[in-house]
Amino acid sequence: MNHQPVSVRVDERDNVAIVVDAEGAAAGARMAGGLTLAEAVPQSHKVVLHELAAGEPVIRYGEAIGLVNRRVRAGAWLREEMIDLPAAPALDELALATRVPAALEPLEGYTFEGFRNADGSVATRNLLGIATTVQCVAPTVEYAARRIREQLLPRFPNVDGVVAVTHSYGCGVAIDAPGAAVPIRTLGHISQHANLGGAPLVVSLGCEKLQPQRLLPSAAFQTYSGAPLPVLQGDPYVLRLQDRDLRGFAEIVSAILRYAERRLEELNRRRRQTVPASELIVGVQCGGSDAFSGVTCNPAVGYAADLLVRAGATVMFSEVTEVRDAVHLLTPRCVSPEVARDLIREMRWYDEYLGRGQADRSANPTPGNKRGGLANVVEKALGSVAKAGTSALRHVASHGEKVGAGRGLVFAATPASDFICGTQQLASMNMHVFTTGEGSPYGMAMVPVIKVSSRTALAERWPDLIDLDAGPIASGKATIADIGWELFRLLLDSASGRRRTWTEHWGLHNALAPFNPGPVT
Ligand code: CA
Repeated sequence: MNHQPVSVRVDERDNVAIVVDAEGAAAGARMAGGLTLAEAVPQSHKVVLHELAAGEPVIRYGEAIGLVNRRVRAGAWLREEMIDLPAAPALDELALATRVPAALEPLEGYTFEGFRNADGSVATRNLLGIATTVQCVAPTVEYAARRIREQLLPRFPNVDGVVAVTHSYGCGVAIDAPGAAVPIRTLGHISQHANLGGAPLVVSLGCEKLQPQRLLPSAAFQTYSGAPLPVLQGDPYVLRLQDRDLRGFAEIVSAILRYAERRLEELNRRRRQTVPASELIVGVQCGGSDAFSGVTCNPAVGYAADLLVRAGATVMFSEVTEVRDAVHLLTPRCVSPEVARDLIREMRWYDEYLGRGQADRSANPTPGNKRGGLANVVEKALGSVAKAGTSALRHVASHGEKVGAGRGLVFAATPASDFICGTQQLASMNMHVFTTGEGSPYGMAMVPVIKVSSRTALAERWPDLIDLDAGPIASGKATIADIGWELFRLLLDSASGRRRTWTEHWGLHNALAPFNPGPVT
């Protein structure tokens, strides 16, 4: 007698179910309900619940994720090559703001301990940041940052760390091309990130295309002289490596260290204060997704997103190629036809961007996604948008645009690539939630990243990388609400500095990856 396999079906209209057991389900095993498996089905892959004729839709999440291209018997393992990808929803036939959800009941009284900045923004970490205009200066600034960490930082216990805000942009690019606005505004916002507390030192080479004034157009720069001038809440300093007064590498490094010491003294005097949860700006994304992502971690993130929106916070979801195939579910949820049209504008822009590269949305799922049971981008998208919860979509930000606090649910257009998405969300967010099924040790230097696993097997294999396991939702040991509340509380604890995430513990900091849709010269 075979063990009875456990499976999950998200919507009662679904004609497939997902196998939950870590070892998969054996051929001949009988599922609850009496269906006998015609063949072995691996964990997180799909079982066909009743016979499908060629051309019939495969229904998951109550939506067609594709059409079977052959007859498939009940109890069969439905594999990727048996499903044809349907056409993406036509962008000129979408319903605009026709089913706007009613405002959710406010959630009062939730707070965290944050650092208030002079511009009104709230930081979740107290970091010394050194911004850069161009990659040429990156190793110099990273060298200086190492020296600051070793020689200076131990004297300033209230400062959480030192970040060299280095990147691969800044020169050798068509800086006036329309696409250049995307990386420039992304990096400008990151250079003035809330967690850096304002007034950065900007290290420039001198001859680069991305001049400091172009990186931070609203700033009135002071040229760094090495003198111990007041810094906090002042204008940023710019230190140009090619400046005639800076003689040699040692002098350049000591100039950066002199600035850093002065700045660390100021940062060290800052104290956390109680602020409402509405000051959270939470970027959510997924990476290394599997078929469970849309059943466990993403719905739990969606539940937490609703709690955050109820508490007045901003929740940003992103990843255009993973929203494109679910856009027909989102445009009716937009708070106004204008917001719906903004969303469509971002979808169309990306369709055209992919078209110029002779690619389309079928380029999205990775081999790991497919091994994890995700047949195509439609199935991935339906699971992905679960992160957005159920509230009205209130605002759409274009690539690299900054979104402030108190905005509710926001779509911030980004590619789905984990590092590029995270970099663009960093223009706004002060907390980050990352869901994963296959597993990724992804982390960022400037904001805490809370990692949520889709399966308990991953959380057990990586207990020192996964912060929260949503796997018990699949086995029925926890509800979506249980894990959603746990994530909400974890966000408040982590934002307050009471808890450090695993990537903070290990210092796992992926490099910034600005999105440059413009030409390189
Ligand atoms: Ca991603």
